[in-house]
Amino acid sequence: MKQQGVAVLGSTGSIGTATLRVIARHQARFRITALTASSNATLLREQAASVRPEYVGIANPNGDSDPAWGTGTDCLIAAAMRADVDIVVNAVVGAAGLPATLAALHAGKRVALANKESLVMGGDAVLRACAEGGGEIVPVDSEHSAILQCIGTRPLGEVRRIILTASGGPFREWDASRIASATIEDALNHPTWRMGRKISIDSATLVNKALEVIEAHYLFGLPYDRVDVVVHPQSIVHSFVEFIDGSVLAQVGFPDMELPILYALTHPHRIDDIPARAFDPSSASPLTFEPVDPERFPSFALGVAAGVRDGSAPAVFNAANEAAVKLFLSGRIGFGDIARAIASALAAIDGLPSVSVADLSAADLAARNHVIGWSRP
Ligand code: NAD
Ligand code: MG
Repeated sequence: MKQQGVAVLGSTGSIGTATLRVIARHQARFRITALTASSNATLLREQAASVRPEYVGIANPNGDSDPAWGTGTDCLIAAAMRADVDIVVNAVVGAAGLPATLAALHAGKRVALANKESLVMGGDAVLRACAEGGGEIVPVDSEHSAILQCIGTRPLGEVRRIILTASGGPFREWDASRIASATIEDALNHPTWRMGRKISIDSATLVNKALEVIEAHYLFGLPYDRVDVVVHPQSIVHSFVEFIDGSVLAQVGFPDMELPILYALTHPHRIDDIPARAFDPSSASPLTFEPVDPERFPSFALGVAAGVRDGSAPAVFNAANEAAVKLFLSGRIGFGDIARAIASALAAIDGLPSVSVADLSAADLAARNHVIGWSRP
C-alpha cells in the first residue's frame, strides 16, 4: 500500500492536534509531510520533532520560530501545493483558510475540510477550483461527514432533504435577556464538544449552524429549502438524510472528532480503528430533538438568510461574525451585540460583486471594517 502524504494546516489547534493523534495510529497509510500553524512556535516545534515533516510553516512568527520554517500567509499555500502532499487537512480557523483550500483544489489534492469558512466565504470559487484542478472536498465537520456517510453512493436525485443536528450550545435553555448578557466564560462552556474558541462562540450564537447550512448547500448541491436543522442536545445523532421514498438514515456515535477526521482521510473506504468510547445505545439514551428558536438565536436566521440571498452576503455574514467574535472575546462588546453587529453589516453592505476571489476579499474586508466602526460609535 502506498503511503499518502498529508499536509496539516492549523496543526496546533483542536482539529489539528486531533488529526495528528489519528495519523499516529495509522502510520502505514499516512505520512505527514507538511505542518503549518499561526503563531504557537513551541507546540509546532514539538510536533515537527515528533512527525518529522518535509515542510513546516508559521504564518505569524513572533521571534521564537525556526529560521528553516516558511513564514507568512503564503506558507499555507506552499504546504498545500507540495508534490509530496496527497491530502490537505485544512484545520485553520476563519476566512484565512480560503486561499489554501483554493490552492489545494487547483493542485488536484483531496481537501479534508474542517475550515467551513472557506466554503461559506467562497462557495462558488471553491467549487470552480475543484472542477478545474480535479481536486476533491471531503468534509471533516461531523454533521457533513454524517451526511456523506448516509448518502453513500446514492445519487442526489434520491435525497429529499438533509437534517443537520445542532447541540443548541450552552444557552439552549436560557431566556433572551440572560443570553444577551452572557460572559465569555459562559459562552465558551460548550455542553458536548471541546473546541477552539471561535467555533465555541459560534456554537453559542448558533452562527456555527448557519455556517453549516451554507456549507451543506455547497458540499451536497442542495437548495436551501432541502437543508433543515434540528436541535439535539446529546450530540449523538450527527445528522439525518431523508430519501425520496421517505426512508431516513442517520449516523450516530458519542461525540468525538477523530472519527470524521479519519473518515475524511479514508473516504469512501473504512479502516480498522478503535474509538475512544465504543457506542452503547443504553448509555446514549435518551435522545431528544427540538426546533431551533430563531427569536433567542437571531444570528442563526441572519446566516441562513445570507446564504439564501447569495452573492456577497455569505462572505459578509462570515466576516462580520469573525470580527464580532473577536471583539466579544476581547471584552469590547457584549454577547448580544454579536447578532446586532452582523445584522448591521448585512444591512449596510449588500450587492457587492462576488465573482472573483478579489471581490470576496473586498466584501470580507468591508464587513470587518463595518463591525469595527459599529463597535465604536
Ligand atoms: P483552533 O483555534 O483550535 O485552531 C485553529 C488553527 O488554525 C491553529 O493551529 C492556528 O494556529 C491556525 N490559525 C489560526 N489563524 C490562522 C491564520 N490567520 N493563518 C494561519 N493559521 C491560522 O480551531 P479549531 O477548533 O481546531 O477549528 C478549526 C476549524 O475547524 C474551524 O473552521 C472550525 O469551524 C472547524 N471545526 C472545528 C471543530 C472542533 O471540534 N474543534 C469541529 C468542526 C469544525
Ligand atoms: Mg459541526
